[in-house]
Amino acid sequence: MNTDLKNLLNIQEFDKKVALLEEELDKIEKKEAKIVEVIDVKAEQLKNAKEEKEEIEKDKAFKEDLLNDTLENLKKLEVKLNSATNEKQAQAVNTEIDIAKTNKSVLEEKIVALEEDIELKEKDIKELEDRYAQLQKTLQEHKTKFNERRKQIKEEIKQIKENKENLIDNIDETLLHKYEKLNKWTKGTSIVPVRQGACYGCFMKLTPQTITNLEETDDIIFCPNCGRMLYKEEKTDSEND
Ligand SMILES: [Zn+2]
Repeated sequence: MNTDLKNLLNIQEFDKKVALLEEELDKIEKKEAKIVEVIDVKAEQLKNAKEEKEEIEKDKAFKEDLLNDTLENLKKLEVKLNSATNEKQAQAVNTEIDIAKTNKSVLEEKIVALEEDIELKEKDIKELEDRYAQLQKTLQEHKTKFNERRKQIKEEIKQIKENKENLIDNIDETLLHKYEKLNKWTKGTSIVPVRQGACYGCFMKLTPQTITNLEETDDIIFCPNCGRMLYKEEKTDSEND
């Protein structure tokens, strides 16, 4: 095989490896971002639950004030009732007492209901806090793993690129340029074998002339259809016709 082509094939292998590693890096970034996103949602839910609890507590405090006022009013009315001088006065005070008592029981019921709401909210908050802590822990664990793998990948890529640089120095510049131009769209299939008389990149049948050129010369042959560089695979015995 043409030496340049052989070197280019090695470069193509390097490029493929780098592409795979870069893809893995990208996946890691996405996974990490996904966990962070879930944590952000939990944090928001937690914040909302706490705000809701505060609102209920404010409402409860307001109603407790009202209840205290009502209780004080009731005490005053009892005094007023005792000092009533006639039946008509007593009746009027009794009506006020009835209204105050109704208010008292309505407020007491509402306060009990609000206390139950607060208890439920507290349960929600506890659950959210647990989940949040769990997610944070998961993120930390993943981060350690992710960072390790990231470091490894970057090191591997660096190594591959160094090896590639060494090869590139020995390749004809025009040919390298052609390869790089092809690589923009072939995604690691710029140099392909010929299988069953067809280009293994675009799968078009090649003419006998192209096959002959490939088999009998050391020239670099391009697929007339897609423009990829072709090479003849070394056949093993089992593949021989
Ligand atoms: Zn082709």
